Amino acid sequence: MENRKVIKFANLKIDIVESAQAAHYYIAGDVDENFRQKEIPRLKSPELHLHLKDVGNFNSVGIREWIQLISDLSQHSKLSFHECSVSAIDQINMVPHSLGGGTVESFYAPYYCDCGRETVKLINVKDHEKDLRQNLAPHFLCECGKDLEFDALEETYFQFLTSLPKAI
Ligand SMILES: [Zn+2]
Repeated sequence: MENRKVIKFANLKIDIVESAQAAHYYIAGDVDENFRQKEIPRLKSPELHLHLKDVGNFNSVGIREWIQLISDLSQHSKLSFHECSVSAIDQINMVPHSLGGGTVESFYAPYYCDCGRETVKLINVKDHEKDLRQNLAPHFLCECGKDLEFDALEETYFQFLTSLPKAI
């Protein structure tokens, strides 16, 4: 059985899907002054997965609402964040409270190539944990065959991972 609910604001849409194992919040758009966290149901599944692939910009009013929502959600559930967009990662690095103690499972990172292509790559934290802990960007090839170059400051961009629990 699946339960689905969609909540829309001027620039943001939140799609909530609840299944037996976990509840999923798919968040798309800008987290700005039109976002009202009070309108978002606080599901109490043991696991909440927040999908941030299509999250755009945050502004100062939006981030306050966001932090309140995440804080409430983390009271009853284990939070994990999936496919975080580059702007979501920038925000998380600026304001670590944005995660409410949850963990980032996967995220996008910006790359470029000498041939002129710019792209984002999905990085699964578990697959690249060793590199990431040393602030090393995972290695990818461009469509042209050359190595892609990481297009941000590694120390800054991977900062949110320094709070990772130590691998066993
Ligand atoms: Zn290239």
